[in-house]
Amino acid sequence: MPIIRNAIRIGRSRTGFGAFAKRDLPANRRIAEYRGPLLSKEEAEREEERGNRYLFEIDRDHTIDGSPRWNIARYLNHSCYGNCETAYAGKRVFIKTVQPIQKGEELVYDYGLSYVKNVIGVSNCQCGRCRRRRTRRKRKARLVKLVKERREKRKRAARLAKPSRKKKR
Ligand SMILES: [Zn+2]
Repeated sequence: MPIIRNAIRIGRSRTGFGAFAKRDLPANRRIAEYRGPLLSKEEAEREEERGNRYLFEIDRDHTIDGSPRWNIARYLNHSCYGNCETAYAGKRVFIKTVQPIQKGEELVYDYGLSYVKNVIGVSNCQCGRCRRRRTRRKRKARLVKLVKERREKRKRAARLAKPSRKKKR
């Protein structure tokens, strides 16, 4: 399956740089290859310790070092619900669309649970769904607090009101 040429534009995103659709893209098409030197397990571990965040593990013994800037696929950010996914072909990895994507949309794919757990931190994920979920949760927490505060206020008011009424009688 050939790669759609000129599908990606690099631009500013919420978390720094990101990859965006340069034009409307159909579903189930390759749009980039995750390219870079192929590392052995030992080399990959060394790179990981040095803080290389672009290591793509193909299997236990092979990892792609995607840090070179000419690897355009490195600009795709993580999302727990991506519009793209990775597709393996031997020791090569491609980025594939999973749905039709409109020009200008950010291109994202799921980096996998271990990345989210170990690198981003589950509660720090900046993908659209996670941000919306956190906003909803915060809004709900605020609402609960507000209701509680109002109830307390009413109780206080009732407590204050009672003795004064008694005094009058
Ligand atoms: Zn997320």
